[in-house]
Amino acid sequence: MSTNNGHTNGTPDIKWLEQLANQFFKTAPNDASSIPTYNIDKPASGVSPSAPDQGNVKDISHPQTSLPDPHFVDGQIPKSVAGSGGVASFDEQLQQALNSIQTFTPGSQLPYVPNFSEPAFYFLSGKQSLKDGNGLPANVRAPFDVEKVKADFPILAEKINGRNLIWLDNAATTQKPKLVIDRISYFYEHENSNIHRAAHELAARATDAYENARKKVQLFINAASPNEIVFVRGSTEAINLVAQSWGDEQLRPGDEIIVSHLEHHANIVPWQQLAAKKGLVLRVIPVDDDGQVLLDEYAKLLNAKTRLVSFTQVSNALGTVTPAKEIVSMAHAIGAKVLVDGAQAVSHLRVNVQELNCDWYVFSGHKVFGPTGIGVLFGKEALLNETQPWQGGGNMIKDVTFDKTVYQPAPGRFEAGTGNIADAVGLGAAIDYVTHIGIDLINEYEHYLLVYATNLLKQIKGLRLIGTAADKAGVLSFTLDGFKTEEVGAWLNKWGIAVRSGHHCAQPILRRFGVESTVRPSLALYNTCSDIDALVEALYKIRNKVY
Ligand code: PMP
Repeated sequence: MSTNNGHTNGTPDIKWLEQLANQFFKTAPNDASSIPTYNIDKPASGVSPSAPDQGNVKDISHPQTSLPDPHFVDGQIPKSVAGSGGVASFDEQLQQALNSIQTFTPGSQLPYVPNFSEPAFYFLSGKQSLKDGNGLPANVRAPFDVEKVKADFPILAEKINGRNLIWLDNAATTQKPKLVIDRISYFYEHENSNIHRAAHELAARATDAYENARKKVQLFINAASPNEIVFVRGSTEAINLVAQSWGDEQLRPGDEIIVSHLEHHANIVPWQQLAAKKGLVLRVIPVDDDGQVLLDEYAKLLNAKTRLVSFTQVSNALGTVTPAKEIVSMAHAIGAKVLVDGAQAVSHLRVNVQELNCDWYVFSGHKVFGPTGIGVLFGKEALLNETQPWQGGGNMIKDVTFDKTVYQPAPGRFEAGTGNIADAVGLGAAIDYVTHIGIDLINEYEHYLLVYATNLLKQIKGLRLIGTAADKAGVLSFTLDGFKTEEVGAWLNKWGIAVRSGHHCAQPILRRFGVESTVRPSLALYNTCSDIDALVEALYKIRNKVY
């Protein structure tokens, strides 16, 4: 058996396992009768023993997780494994839930019809106005039953200070659906092993689960190949990886890096550190008073020395959705590479890295209903393969002698050591969840919630919304006259409402608006109009000092 365990190009190649299985079972490996149930006397076949019971593919050439996982049959997006008998799969359960939501009548769930007399945002006027239709934007299909979605998240049933938890801190981290929690438990109960390089059953299961998660990410952001998906700890690590590998290798004194004024510290500090080390120049795209980047100013910054543009797709402090495609193509026009920080984008809008044509894209699992400690660096395959590895160690090598090391191609070359296997699998489950509900539907629903909340907040005297760009997602940052932001946060907590107050790791952009901190409610698919009503009611109480 080769030391290169059969995992080439990031996808499991289990020919060697197949041969092994053939040796032991002497029957065709895809013959169901040859697939063992748990039996310690028999060596592992590489096929999960529980797979046949779950109606799974039994073909050893098509590895899959031990959970029903119809997602990658021919690389197609999900078909339910309904009809396999036994307990309904998540697909079936969710489908049943979604079928029943068509009965949702928006009017019955809207306790308050906002006042549209003074629209200040594009989405508060014109054809997308809530005035259209039954209190919903005309182009919004009857949305999912948000109460059913909410019930998928066990933590949302918590009581905080005697009230139902209202989680409006989604930009900091999202809550996890039961599906994700269960998937991680399942991994530790039935699949846990280190991945790659082993002939035993659990190594095969764990490897399958991990590599399938990679494929899920690939489809989720429409990368061209799973080899373009590197698992990392999160957005911060992904950006540092690019800075310390590509940046350290490619950039020369005097080269310029452009970031926007909106950036999270994670997309400022690594470039500043690199600039200090290598004598680079950091330039900043300014924003207008609504918090949108100024493309004409950006154009003026681009020049022959510009080697990299690194910017956020959605601002975590203001919610601004930047014109990412334009920013990328303007950078490419002068030959610069582009990194897009998608930490705040992935849970709110459809991401298509091929259409965006960025060179790297980063996001964190925990911001998209997955676990903490796992995230993604997407990079164009050729670029990843021509970039020196970041960290050295196990897993990322093809061959090691005391003279030299030959590295694996991507993604292996950037995954030194034992990674966060279980949480990668959990992230895969989170992507399943989002995919099954539908990211476009989520986007429309949240847009509606944002409109609803914006209208109500605007009517509170003394409340200043910070970040009023025409294109926004998920975030409502504000200050309240006469109150410190942390005071507002603490009072809201008293009523079970979780919001973040502070600088949101984006000090430059808050200072651009003359503040050091804001209160920042931020939305996700499980938030409701009642959550917003509770927030608004609490803010009126705080403002009127009725505690
Ligand atoms: N970029 C943006 C826009 C963010 O909002 C965050 C997290 N707040 C990060 C990067 C860093 O993400 P993480 O802490 O998960 O690495």
